Formats: sequence, C-alpha cells, structure tokens
Amino acid sequence: MLKDQDRIFTNLYGMHERNLAGAKARGHWDGTAGIVEKGRDWIIQTMKDSGLRGRGGAGFPTGLKWSFMPKESDGRPAFLVINADESEPGTCKDREIMRHDPHTLIEGALIASFAMNAHTCYIYLRGEYIREREALQAAIDECYDQGLLGRNAAGSGWDFDVFLHHGAGAYICGEETALIESLEGKKGMPRMKPPFPAGAGLYGCPTTVNNVESIAVVPTILRRGADWFAGFGRQNNAGTKLFAISGHVKNPCVVEEAMSIGFEELIEKHCGGIRGGWDNLLAVIPGGSSVPCVRGENMRDALMDFDYLRGELGSGLGTAAVIVMDKQTDIIKAIWRLAKFYKHESCGQCTPCREGTGWMMRVMDRLVKGEAELEEIDMLWDVTKQVEGHTICALGDAAAWPIQGLIKNFREEIEDRIKAQKTGRMGAMAAE
Ligand code: SF4
Repeated sequence: MLKDQDRIFTNLYGMHERNLAGAKARGHWDGTAGIVEKGRDWIIQTMKDSGLRGRGGAGFPTGLKWSFMPKESDGRPAFLVINADESEPGTCKDREIMRHDPHTLIEGALIASFAMNAHTCYIYLRGEYIREREALQAAIDECYDQGLLGRNAAGSGWDFDVFLHHGAGAYICGEETALIESLEGKKGMPRMKPPFPAGAGLYGCPTTVNNVESIAVVPTILRRGADWFAGFGRQNNAGTKLFAISGHVKNPCVVEEAMSIGFEELIEKHCGGIRGGWDNLLAVIPGGSSVPCVRGENMRDALMDFDYLRGELGSGLGTAAVIVMDKQTDIIKAIWRLAKFYKHESCGQCTPCREGTGWMMRVMDRLVKGEAELEEIDMLWDVTKQVEGHTICALGDAAAWPIQGLIKNFREEIEDRIKAQKTGRMGAMAAE
C-alpha cells in the first residue's frame, strides 16, 4: 500500500485547507522559481525519466509530448491547455484535485507552460463542474494576489497567465481537438489529425493538451526526482495514480495508489471488498466506460496498469475509473446504457459513428429484452468492427469497445436471454 509520505495529493478528501496557506503548508509552491531556473531541457528530461504517462486515458508519455512543442517560436505564441472536461462515465478523479488541491494544478501549469514556451494556459472545465470552477477560480485569484501568477510569476522571471474556461457539458469536448474548437468559440467537433496540436492547435498555434492529473503531479515529481516517481509500478507503467472505484464495492472511493497494484488489494484495502463477497463479482470495467469489460474471475489477479490490462486482458487502464458490477447486475442492460450514452454524445460529423452508434444502440435495446435472433449477435460484432478505427476521433472506438467486451465475455448470457424470450421463459428469468 502506498505510504502517506509518498502521496502527491495530500488533500484529496478536503480534510485540510485548500487555500494557498494550506497548500504551502503541505509543500506546494515550494521552490517553484528554482525549478524553473533549471531550464526547459532539464524539466522535460526529468519528466521523460520519471516515466509519467498521460492520465487522461491514452497513456502517452507526458515528457515526450512536451518535447514535440517547437523549441523556438516562429512568431506564434504557444499554449498549454488543461483538459478538465472529465466526462467519461465512472471517471471522477480530476474533480477531487480541483475541489481540494487546486494549487498543485496551478503550480504544475506554470512549470509545464514554461517548459513548453507558453505564457498562457487555458483550463477547459466540464460544464457541470460548478463547485470545481469556484474552487479553482478562488485559487487562481489568490495566486494573482500573491504574485504567483501574472508578470514574473512566483519570481521565476516568466510571465504567465491562467484562464479558466467553463464548457457547456458536451462529452465530446473532452477530445483534445474538439476542446480546442470549443475554446475558439466554435461547435465542439473533433478535427482531423494531422496537423497535430503541437504544430497547429489553439488559434493555429502550437498547443499541448494535458489532463488535470498529468499536470498536477508535475511539481512533486520535479521536487522529489524522476527516480522516486519511477520507483512505483512496473517498467513502463511508472508512478502513483488516482483510482476512482465505483459500483458494487462496499465503499466506493477515489484513492491514490502505486501503479500496478493488484486489483484484489486495491478493492480490499480501500473499498472494503465486493458487495456480497468475491464470489459475487460478475464483471469489471477497469478504465472508464470506453474500455471493454472483463469477467470478474479474470480480474482477481489483475495488475492495475496500462500494459497488463491491455496485454493480458484485452481491456485498458484508461482513466483508472474502475466500475465494479456484482451478480445482481443486468450486464446486457449496463452495456446498453453505455451504448445509449455514446449515441447521444456522438458529434455526428462522421458516418460510421453517427449511424453506427444509433444502430448499435437499437440492437442493444432488443438484446436487453431478448427480442432478437441469435445471428444478430455476430452482426452486431461486425458493426462494431466497422465503426472501430474508421472515425475521426476515438468516440467511435469508445462506443464499439464496451459492446465487443460484452459479446466476448458474456455471449452466453445474451444467447440465453434470446432463447428464453423465444420459449416464453422471460417472465421466470426476470423474477430470478
Ligand atoms: Fe464526431 Fe463520432 Fe466522428 Fe468523433 S467519431 S468526430 S464524435 S462523429
């Protein structure tokens, strides 16, 4: 179990003061100017050495991403954009940072922006996050008052401004290019890549979009050293990580743990176990609603990191939003609900996603009731394959994968329901 002295987020539960004085007492804003003084190359190299992989879901190495930004400006300004649009069902970790530990995010924004030659950072906040906006704005105002932002921010010699932008509640604005479009005042529709944001992003200028947690861990990594951070987790899966565990555990929670922690240990130590005991575990979605579900028995020995969940279980760590479902769950209905969500959130600009998400949802509607033919299961699988990888952004994949996970792991349940409907046993099944 992660020791208290190794926690980056020391006020995750809001037990202490979240204001500047409280943040400083917990070690934030300590020697920030000294970190900046060490220079861009040192910061980026340390981030690379730490092994931090982006915490927004894709797991791309953060230091490497920063290094794609132009070293010298060609006259255009550079921007850091922090993605605080956290809208994936099950994911609720960044909001805890913004509510209770906003200063580590702002300090991280200053250091990261300096490393990427950016004088301006925008934080794009999910529409529903009202309290988080208030907490974050109060922290930003405090920083301006105390000289930590603005001209010569924190005495670093770097002029730096942070603007908070409140979205209007569309899931797709969490996709980095849709987020940029939305920031520019347009409809939140993803852009084709290339060009990538590091070449032409916000207002056509070099831009890096990073997740809240990815930026909030930066100051502590730079203070404590790359080796310290790299010391947690398996090779290529370094660091500590916020896990957001929801569903049928005894105590759902958000907790910081070492990467690669065992699933069973994570649930036992922090959530008090599975509702009804381990034998009652049906399925787990280990990384937010867009990754395929895994059968409970296959999760028990799982290590919670990027490579294990993808390589061994064909799922993913995603945002580490762990959704636990026990045997009282109607798994077909649970996945149908996700299909409905993605259909609703599709921006509609590419055909496989616009049509496919609706098509998949309508078949799922019938599978929930068992009102389908057995052949339709393969047909549905086929459609998910035609959507996956054939769209502008990853929403197409996000809509396809949960259904693929259902068919791969729970085909028998789907078939049983269809057969029960045909033989008139549905009433008895529903009563079970
Ligand atoms: Fe829009 Fe879906 Fe295409 Fe993404 S995949 S750009 S959400 S239509």
